[in-house]
This record gives sequence, structure tokens and C-alpha cells, in this order.
Amino acid sequence: MNSEEIKNRMDYLVNEINRNDRLYYVEARPQIPDAEYDRMYEELIRLEKEHPEFKDPNSPTLRVSGEPIEGFVQVHHSPPMKSLDKCYEKGELIQFDSFLRREMASSIKWNYVVEPKVDGVSMSLLYENRVLVRAATRGNGEVGDDVTQNVRTIRSIPKTLPEDAPELLEVRGEVFMTRDGFVKLNAALDESGRETFMNPRNACAGSLKLLDPKIVSTRPLDMVVYNAGGVGCEKFSTHAEMIEAFKRWGFSVAPFSRIVPTIEEAIEAIDELGNKRHDFRFEIDGAVLKVNERELYNSLGATAHSPRWARAYKYAPERAETLLRDITVQVGRTGVLTPVAELESVELAGSVISRATLHNAEQIAAQDIRIGDHVWVVKAGDVIPAIDGVLVEKRSSDSKPYVFPSVCPVCGSEVVKFEGEVALRCVNPACPAQLQRRLEHFASRNALDIKALGGRLSDILVEKKIVTDPLDLFSLDYAALQDLDIGEEGSPRKFGKNALNMMKAVEAAKSLPLERWLFAFGIPNVGVTVARDIAAEHKALSDLVKSPVLENVILNDTKKGKEHKILQIKVEAAKAVLAFFDGEYGLKVLERLNALGINPKSSEKEIVKTTGPLVGMGCVLTGSLSRPRTEWAKLIELAGGIVQSSVTSKTRYLIAGANVGAAKTEKAKALGTEVIDELRLKELLGMTGEDSKGDITPEEPTPKKKTAPLIQGELLGL
Ligand code: AMP
Ligand code: ZN
Repeated sequence: MNSEEIKNRMDYLVNEINRNDRLYYVEARPQIPDAEYDRMYEELIRLEKEHPEFKDPNSPTLRVSGEPIEGFVQVHHSPPMKSLDKCYEKGELIQFDSFLRREMASSIKWNYVVEPKVDGVSMSLLYENRVLVRAATRGNGEVGDDVTQNVRTIRSIPKTLPEDAPELLEVRGEVFMTRDGFVKLNAALDESGRETFMNPRNACAGSLKLLDPKIVSTRPLDMVVYNAGGVGCEKFSTHAEMIEAFKRWGFSVAPFSRIVPTIEEAIEAIDELGNKRHDFRFEIDGAVLKVNERELYNSLGATAHSPRWARAYKYAPERAETLLRDITVQVGRTGVLTPVAELESVELAGSVISRATLHNAEQIAAQDIRIGDHVWVVKAGDVIPAIDGVLVEKRSSDSKPYVFPSVCPVCGSEVVKFEGEVALRCVNPACPAQLQRRLEHFASRNALDIKALGGRLSDILVEKKIVTDPLDLFSLDYAALQDLDIGEEGSPRKFGKNALNMMKAVEAAKSLPLERWLFAFGIPNVGVTVARDIAAEHKALSDLVKSPVLENVILNDTKKGKEHKILQIKVEAAKAVLAFFDGEYGLKVLERLNALGINPKSSEKEIVKTTGPLVGMGCVLTGSLSRPRTEWAKLIELAGGIVQSSVTSKTRYLIAGANVGAAKTEKAKALGTEVIDELRLKELLGMTGEDSKGDITPEEPTPKKKTAPLIQGELLGL
């Protein structure tokens, strides 16, 4: 391609990606498979790297690759981004209607719009020449923060506008976090030992404040627009018309909207919305009632606080009274004690609730919550039930303040409060509750994926002290495991055949890549992503001990001498990993893994061998070969080659075994690939003259014959 063609190709990709983003995120009707989208995205990234001079300053790739910003620049809003007057009773809505009647001549007629009040973060978007140039938070209404880099990562927000949009346009709306996304985010944060968010709005605000757009891009944020800003919307005489134009220009708008002529019908619409309030992807904290006729806005004007042509109606928070039967304390993987309210079952916002979180000891003390109290339960952020106060008048005279346990409820050892933390922790490394959680984590899907360990088995293994450390899984006695009774009280049941599956999974775990193992250890601050990032920089587990790469992360951060949020996370993770492998337990882990012959390797492709006869050459294996394909693949990789699944223009050799069709080899030749046989491959690998002793690893490891993983030395002996 010449440079003009490259530029055209890049423009085409930018447009296609933007168009498909809109189809996917705004219109929810994707037209291409995800893989195809990813391919275009990858190609664009590659072209932008090779030809930075053609990079579009609004490229969709900026969604993820923006550099961390130092802080936020302030933005002045003109006109200011106002709040809304709120009301809580239907009567106040009638009063609002009367107020409008008094304000306006009797000949003037208007309609009402009813929309959901989206509970997120108010945002202004500015487009110049139909290109998104600035996104700013409301701040105090007059001055907000420029969060453009972060907002760019929100895929449903158009980065460019179609031709019929005004050249200069400011729109306003709400950035929010989806409810599903919030639950998942919290689970992931929790899993990696970090603090969770109280509700989707906090999570949204917190995400927008992050200094690293890369992290923001992983947060499930979205936006709807519902207001004109300072410029570009003057020509719309009604709100409804304006919303229609927003839609045409590619924005998402609120999924519920009613236009009605009277306040009575508006109230009906507000009730209808109230009934649906839990069905939206986002949280709503009320309804917004607006005059539809924008030409009336000027004469109605605004107060310092809010426009006089709109009202927010807040639905009564859904809460229910119930009895707090007990407070139980759970012990997490890292020993954190979490109190849980055990409630008399009660229905709330469409679901039956019997437990609620109490967060920590301080919350219980602050609210003076006592066992036996009648309490209000609410859905915090409409997702997680929480206690919202005590009905003190119903308290019995002999009730006593709740005393948080000073020892672990499971192992009985004393609990500790670390500096700067609210949580109390059990620090006994042998605590069965922690071991239980750690074992679950160790075997979880993103860790070593040992499914058979789920449910009863892990309880029993811990209970019977068969497992006192997750690594004990690697020295289980297969016969004993088969005979293990996993039945409930009084109905014995043997683990039996499942033992084989479990041993297989354990065996397979031995060769899982570094990132999975690193995650499996459950080191604080090391979630799936962090584990992957760290693994990408290291070849093998043993390289993590006193890793200069990790030490460098810490060094660089202190040099900066500044509070730097993103790096801080990484620094904490780096510190935690270094501390783990430097600590008594970590060293024991390494020793045991060594004895077991396990040294997990990074799966990252970055770690490509730079020497060897096949360096950088793509190889495809096909047909029936004299050795298992996985074995050839390993040999090729050790020689620096890259094993591919199908022939591409980058394939150097097609290694054809017996029974390979001519069509396949012809096609390869057409792409410039050399077709060779096994013998030639052996020559290339310098394996001529070897015999069957090169049989390195059986395809399917069996539990009886303990198979050592592939060891470098054996290969070198080939
Ligand atoms: P508050 O922040 O409680 O004072 O309420 C006012 C805010 O509600 C506005 O600044 C907007 O950010 C937000 N809001 C959410 N949905 C809407 C909507 N449909 N129309 C107008 N404002 C809305
Ligand atoms: Zn304990």
C-alpha cells in the first residue's frame, strides 16, 4: 500500500469501528461478529503504530490507549449546569402545574415530558466541527472537571457526529454505570482484595476520577443525553424534537419518555415509570417532569439553583421493616471479618430478603444495631440490601449493644486491626475458614480451574485436615480420594470416579501459565488483570522472586513523589507480590513447587525466543505426524518458531504429515509457504540421527504415572 492507500484504509477503519460501536452500544443491533470487530481494531492499532502521522486525533483506539493524565483541568459552564427542584408528594406536582399557570398567559398551552431521573454523574459534551473535543463534569455547576480522556472510553458516546449536526454543539446528560456491570466490578474488586463501591453512582463517579483512561475503559460506563448545553440546540422548539435529533446524531437517550398534555396524565406516567423503576439497566432515583415547549423556557427562567420549567419527583425509597434475628460474622480469604445481618424474611423491591450486609464493626456501632432489633432494610443503590436504621421505640428494655467478636469465630484466634484499615482480620495462617476460602479461590475458574473441588469436597478436605494448604492438592492419594466419604450426615457417599477427574484437573494445572498461578495464590491486589500484566513481564514463577521489574515499579513511583492513583494500585500489587515471595509462606510455596517440578511459565507471546534455527518463522502442522502435535509445537517454539493454526502470508513452513490433500499444499505454496515433511523439520531442528528416546511428554497425563512437565534439559539432550 502506498501512503495514500494507508491513510484511506485507516480512515475507513476509524469510520467502520465508530459505526459498529454505535450499532452495538447504542442501537443494540450489532451487524458483524465480535471477532471481525476485533480484527479491524487490531489492524487500526497496528497501522497507527506504523504511521503515527496519519493517526486520527479522535481515533476509537484512544478509548484504551490514552496516557494517564496528571490531574483535571477546570472547565467553566455557560450557562451553568443547574440542579433540579425536588418534590416528594403528588400534591407538589399539582402545585407546580398551578405555578406554571400563574406564570403564563391563559392562552398558552404546553405539554409535559416525563423521563427517568438517571442516577449517575451529570456530564457536558462539547463537539466542534462535529468532533468530540471536551467532556466535563458538572462540578459545582459553574466549574467542573475536564474528563475528556476518560469519557472517550465510553463506547456508546459518538466521537464524531453526522453532517446534519450543528458545527458547534454542547449536549448534557448523565454518565452512569450499569447495574450488572456494577455487580461484576465489585466482585472483581473484592476478588483482588480491593475496596468495593457502595452503589453504581459511586462506582461511576469513582471511575471518572481515575487518572488512567485504560482502567476507565474497563469500567462498564454508559451515557444518556437529555439536555441542551450552551450551543447548537437553539432551533428546537420542543424537547421531544431535540431528543429525536440526539438519537439521529448517534446519542443514547433515556429508554422511557412520555409526552402528555395534562398534569394528571403526567402523574400517571410518573407512576408507570415508578412501577418500572427496577427494570432499567441503570438506577433511577426519580422521575423528571419538564415542560416540552422549549420556547417557554426563557420566559420561565431559572433560579440560582434550578430551571423553573422542570421538577424532579423522588420516589419514596423502598424499605421494609423486619426483625434482626442474629448477626453472623464471616471470615474471608484474607481473614477479613464481615458481619452479616440475619433477618426475618421480608419482601422488598420485588425480592425476598433474609440477609443484609453490615459492612464492618464500625457501622454496627455507629448505628447502634442490636440483635433482636426491628430494623429498616433498604436496597443500597437498589442492588445490595442494607440496614437503614433501627426502630428504637420497638426495642425491648433488656436489649444490649452488640459486641463485635474479638476472636475469629471459626478458629478462635485473636483478631487484629491494621493501621489505616476499618476491617478486623483473623491473622492465623492456619485458620480453616481462610483456608477454605483460599482453596476455593485456588481452584476457581480464573485460577487453576479444578471444578471437582467445588461444593462439599473442599469443606471435607479442610475439615479432615487432608488439605492444610492449597498445594496439598498436588500430593493427594488417589485411592484414598476415591474412598473419601462426601455424603451428608447419615448418608455416606463415596467420591469414587470423580477422583479421577479431579486428579486430571490437578495434573493439568501443573502446566497452566504463570498468570493463572499468580492469580491463584490470592495475593492482595493481584486480580486477573494485574496477574496477567505481571506475567507478561516475567518468564517464569521463579523470576518473581526479588524481581527487578517489580522493584522498578516501586522505585519509579517514589521518584515521582506524587500521589498517582493508577501507579499506586500497581505499586501496591508489586509490593504485595515481592512481599509474598519474600515471606516465609511464599518461600515455602516455591520450595514445594520446586520439589513437585512445577515452575509455571508465562504464556505471553512477548517472550519470544530470539535465537534458534526457526526464529520468527511461522509454522503450521498438518496431516498425521509421527509425534503428537503438541510435542512438535513445543520443539518448534523452543527453536524460536511460531506455531500457527492455519497458513497465512506469514507462514514460512507447512509441515505436512501423511494424508495431506493437494489443495492444502497448493494453497500454502500460493502464499509463498514452503511445504516440508517431518524429516526436513528434524533437520531444521538439528534433530537428525535421533531415535525414539525423544518421547518427551505423553499427550494425556495420567494420575498414576506422575508425569514431570516438560523440562528444558531433556529437550536439549535431543
Ligand atoms: P440533583 O443532582 O439531585 O440535584 O438532580 C439534578 C440532576 O439530575 C441534574 O443535574 C442531572 O444530572 C440529573 N438528571 C438525571 N436524569 C435527568 C433527566 N432526564 N433530565 C434532567 N436531569 C436529569
Ligand atoms: Zn480464623
